[in-house]
Amino acid sequence: MPACPCQSGESYDDCCGRFHRGDAAAPTAERLMRSRYSAYSVGDTAYLLKTWHRSTRPPVLELDPEVRWCRLDIVAHTGGSMLDTRGTVEFRAHYRSGGIADQQHENSSFVRENGSWLYVNAA
Ligand SMILES: [Zn+2]
Repeated sequence: MPACPCQSGESYDDCCGRFHRGDAAAPTAERLMRSRYSAYSVGDTAYLLKTWHRSTRPPVLELDPEVRWCRLDIVAHTGGSMLDTRGTVEFRAHYRSGGIADQQHENSSFVRENGSWLYVNAA
């Protein structure tokens, strides 16, 4: 089985695939962030929109087919546990586009509503 793009060491099916299929909800903000990174990697735009807070969610999402996501580093996080309703996750997502390596460095905000973590925006 293919390894999960989020580099947890687990297979995709057992890791972020469970969240993408809707078999489970990400229990923490960091797990949601990892699963969203994996969704970008596998091109699951439906999952990205589903986990995007309605206040900031774009009407449609088109992924750049040139971008290949290579590695995710979680830098820091605040809150976001199963006891929290808010959290932030700072990360570096490494990618290649047109043969050029680059990275996205972002501190993302998340809220939990009705038991589900949702991405709000980037600081
Ligand atoms: Zn994963």
